[in-house]
Amino acid sequence: MKQSLTTHISGYPRIGAKRELKKALEQFWAGRITAAELDREGKGLRQRHWIEQQRLNFVATNDFSFYDGMLDLACMLGAVPSRFGVVGEEVSLDQYFRMARGRGAANGNRPDVAPLELTKWFDTNYHYLVPELDADQLFRRTNRKAVAEVKEAIACGHRPKPVLIGPVTFLALSKTRDGSDPLLLLPKLLPVYRELLGELFEAGAEWVEISEPVVVQRKDGEVLTGVAESLAYFKEVKGPKLLLAVPFGKLGGALNELLGMEFDGLHVDAVRGSSDLPWLFTHFPNDKVLSLGLIDGRGIWRADLLDHRVTISTFLEKWGPARLWVGTSCSLLHVPHSLQEEDELDTDLKSWLSFAKEKLEEVDLLSKSELSPNHEAALMAARDNRLQHLGVRIPELRREVAALDAQSALRASDIEERLKLQRAALGLPLLPTTTIGSFPQTDEIRKLRARRRKGVTDEAGYEQGLEAAMRDVIRCQEELGIDVLVHGEFERTDMVEYFGEKLDGVAITRNGWVQSYGSRCVKPPIIWGDVTRPKTMTVDWTVKAQTLTSRHVKGMLTGPVTILQWSFVRDDLSRREVALQLALALRKEVGELEQAGTKVIQVDEPGLREGFPLELGDREAYLEWAVYAFRVATSGVADVTQIHTHMCYAEFEDVAEAIAALDVDVISLEASRSKMEALDSVRTGGLRSEVGPGVWDIHSPRVPSQEEIENLLERALQVVPAERLWVNPDCGLKTRGWQETRESLKNLVSAAAALRERA
Ligand code: GLN
Ligand code: ZN
Repeated sequence: MKQSLTTHISGYPRIGAKRELKKALEQFWAGRITAAELDREGKGLRQRHWIEQQRLNFVATNDFSFYDGMLDLACMLGAVPSRFGVVGEEVSLDQYFRMARGRGAANGNRPDVAPLELTKWFDTNYHYLVPELDADQLFRRTNRKAVAEVKEAIACGHRPKPVLIGPVTFLALSKTRDGSDPLLLLPKLLPVYRELLGELFEAGAEWVEISEPVVVQRKDGEVLTGVAESLAYFKEVKGPKLLLAVPFGKLGGALNELLGMEFDGLHVDAVRGSSDLPWLFTHFPNDKVLSLGLIDGRGIWRADLLDHRVTISTFLEKWGPARLWVGTSCSLLHVPHSLQEEDELDTDLKSWLSFAKEKLEEVDLLSKSELSPNHEAALMAARDNRLQHLGVRIPELRREVAALDAQSALRASDIEERLKLQRAALGLPLLPTTTIGSFPQTDEIRKLRARRRKGVTDEAGYEQGLEAAMRDVIRCQEELGIDVLVHGEFERTDMVEYFGEKLDGVAITRNGWVQSYGSRCVKPPIIWGDVTRPKTMTVDWTVKAQTLTSRHVKGMLTGPVTILQWSFVRDDLSRREVALQLALALRKEVGELEQAGTKVIQVDEPGLREGFPLELGDREAYLEWAVYAFRVATSGVADVTQIHTHMCYAEFEDVAEAIAALDVDVISLEASRSKMEALDSVRTGGLRSEVGPGVWDIHSPRVPSQEEIENLLERALQVVPAERLWVNPDCGLKTRGWQETRESLKNLVSAAAALRERA
C-alpha cells in the first residue's frame, strides 16, 4: 500500500456529545428558545461534527436532522399529508414538528392532529417517522435542507458527500392511506428525486450516497428492479456520481443483479455482509468504486485493524487505491458519540471500545499504507488483554450453561393444572385488575435522583425517598381497589439499565447516549463479559412492598431477551449464549423471589419481537433460542407460583406461536389502540394462558372512560372466557402524570367491577 485510500462515513451521531440537540429541541418545544436559536444550535453541531470528520476524505452531510431523516426527505419531496396544513414554498418548522409530534387539543380551540406513526428503522433501536402517501400522491421539490448543508460544508472548507435515503427505501417504508403498494409511486417520485440530485450537484457535491437498505431486507424483484430503474433514470442526465449503499446485512442472492446496475460506486456492509466479500472480489467490476464498510457502525467494539488490513491488501491488488474506499458499515447514528467522557469505565474495557469519534480514527488508520510499529504492538496488546481479562470467560458459568437441557425449560405441570392450583392459592376475583409495573416518575423522584448524583443526598436518604414513594403507591392501589399490586419501580431509571447495574459482566456508561427517536435517547448497557448475578437484584424492594399490604405484590423483572436486545452485546460470543447467561441469572432471581414469598412474578419481554433478524429466513432460529432463554429464566418455580409476562407492540401475528411457546401463566399485551385485535392475533398461535389485553392507551394523557373500557372488555370477552381475562393498562405508567393515572385506574377498576356483576 502506497497511496492512501478514500475514506468516508455514512453518517454521524447528531444528538451531540453532551446531547445538546436534545436540550435545544426540548427548550424550543417549551417555548424557551426561538427558532433562530434552535437553528444556531443545529448549525454549531453540524460544524463541530464536520471538524471531527476532517481527517476523512469526505464529510457526511444531510445526516443531521432536527427530528428524523425520513421526515426530512418527505419534506424535501413535498409528501405532507393534508392534516398538517397547506404547504407553501416550504414545509414550515411548525408543520415539520407537527408531523413529528402531533398537536394536542390543549392549544386553544385548534383540533387534535395525530403525528406520523413511529416505527423501528430496520433492526436497529432507532425509530423513524412513517411517511403517509396517497395512491394519487403528487411529489414536488420543497425544502432545501440537503442542498443547504452541502453549501454550508463547502463554505466551512470541507468536501461534502450528502447521504440520502434512496427512493425505493423511502417508498417501501412509507404507508399509503388506501393500503396500495407504495412502490407503485416510484415513477412519480423519480423526477423530483432527480431534481434534488441535480441541485446537490450544482451546489458542489461531486458524490452522493444513495442508501437503499431495503435491498438487504427484501431481495425481491420489485425492490431490485426499482433500484435498477432509479439509478438508470438518474444517469440519463448530468449529475453527481452515485455511491449506492446497502447497509445492515448481506446481499447474497441479490449481488448478481446489483452489479449490473448503473452506480459509480457500491458501498457494502463488510461487517454483517462479510460473507459477500469473496464473491465481490471475483465479480465486482474494477472500473467502479468498491467501498468496504469494514468498521462496524452498529457495535461499539474496537475493530481488529490487523485483520481488516489483510482484507484491504487483497482487494487493493485488484482495484488499486483509486477505486477502493473504506468506511463504516452503516451510519454511526447507532453508536454513542465519543469515549472521551467515559472516565468511570474500567480502563481495560475502555481500551476495547470504540464509539463514533474513535471509529473515525479507525477508518483513517485503515486507509493508511502503514501502521507504526507502536500502533501495531498496541493493537496486539489490546487483543490479548481482552482475551485474558478476568470475567470475560467464567468456566464455571460456561459449564452451567452447557448443562442446560430441555428439562431446565419445563414447568413441572401443564398450564391447566398450574392455573387450577394458582386460582386456589391466590384467591383473586374474576377479571382481576393489575398494572404493568411502573407508576409515574414525577419531578420529585427525578430531583431525588439528581440530589443523589450530586452527592447532596446519601444512599440512605435516597432509599428513604424511594420508599416513601412506594408506600404512597401501595396505598393508592389499595384505595383504588386493584387486585394484584406492584411496588412502582421507582428505583429504576430504565428497565434494562437497572439490571445492567446489578449484573457482573455488564457495564454502564456515563454518557453513551444513542438516539432512539426525536429528542429521546437511550443509554444501552455494555455486555462485555460472562454475565453473573453477584446478589439479589429486586427481592428487597418486592419484600418491603409486600409488608405494606395484604394483597399480592408482583415481582418485576426484565426478561433475558429484552436485556440482550437493548444492550450493546459482546462480539466474541453468540447472542444465544449471552441470552442463556442472562437467563440463568434471572432464574436465580426468580427463585429467590419465590423463596421470599412472592406468589406472582412478571418477566417483561417487550424486546422479543424487536430482536427479529432482518432476514425472514433467520427468524425461526432466533425465536427458538429466545423462547428457550425465557423459559430457562422462568421454569424453575413451583406450579403454584404464577409467572406473568408483558409485551407491548402493535403486531403479534408473526410471534404468536413463540408467545404461546413461552408457557407463561398470564400475559399482558398492548391492545387498546388495535381495539383488541392484538388479542385475536396472539391467539392464533395457540395461546393457552390467561391474558390481560391492555384497555388503556398509556401513550397519551387521555383518560379512558369507564364505558370505553367496558366496551373493550366486552370485545375481549368474545374471544377469551371471563375466567381467563385480566384487566390492565397497555404498558407501564412511568411517563404518565399522577392525576390521569388515578382517574384512568379508577375507571378501569369500575369497568372490571361492572363486568363482574354481569358475568
Ligand atoms: N414493567 C415495565 C414498566 O412498567 C414494563 C415497561 C415496558 O414494557 N416497556 O415500566
Ligand atoms: Zn410495555
